[in-house]
Amino acid sequence: MARTFFVGGNFKLNGNKKSIKEIVERLNGASLAEDVEVVVCPPAAYLDYTVSLVNKKQLSVGAQNTYSKASGAYTGENSVDQVKDLGAKWVILGHSERRTYFHEDDKIVAEKTKFALDNGVGVILCIGETFEEKEAGITLQVVERQLNAVIAEVNDWTNVVIAYEPVWAIGTGLAATADDAQEIHASIRKFLAEKLGADAAEKIRILYGGSANGANCSTFKDKKDVDGFLVGGASLKPEFVDIVNTRK
Ligand code: PGA
Repeated sequence: MARTFFVGGNFKLNGNKKSIKEIVERLNGASLAEDVEVVVCPPAAYLDYTVSLVNKKQLSVGAQNTYSKASGAYTGENSVDQVKDLGAKWVILGHSERRTYFHEDDKIVAEKTKFALDNGVGVILCIGETFEEKEAGITLQVVERQLNAVIAEVNDWTNVVIAYEPVWAIGTGLAATADDAQEIHASIRKFLAEKLGADAAEKIRILYGGSANGANCSTFKDKKDVDGFLVGGASLKPEFVDIVNTRK
């Protein structure tokens, strides 16, 4: 089954009106593959502005975080309805920076994921092991634990995209090799097939994230379980267009 190639741009805590306009206008003006889904994820303060700029059928906008409550006394949070109101179609959840710096554990990630899906926003669900966990040979145990927490809350995975992001590869310039990523993605899909059924597992996009860039993206392009990328640093640069066009 053909899964539509998916490329997320995670701007993290970067950018301003000027730089975001440049990035989106570059995408608007580029010749993009027809069959690719591109989701740019600016800081929440720029969601509205970014939505006003995107102007191509392949492009949509995502948030970098949402809370697991609809509204109320939660200073500093953004709700799913609010980001949806601004035009966001997706949200990144479970990112290692949220897990590490903001102490989001598997349970919080699962609750946020369920809440976003129940309220009509797709989820880019990030999972991945640290360097120590990789060295200890427990990569699959870690990603299965992270997935199990969400599986306990979410039955319908139609609007979930998984981003496998080894923590040691994020922002380090040390991407996983395409062969290693393929092996782990295949194991993730096998695990999902056992838990959710073969049909559901076949349909779920599994992205690679962690120092993906314009120079290394093509090495992943024929890997059958690598269905796209979640891109941090390189999503702010002109090479993002090359990553979007990996399979063009
Ligand atoms: P990176 O970040 O591409 O800068 O390594 C990826 C991510 O954190 O999603």
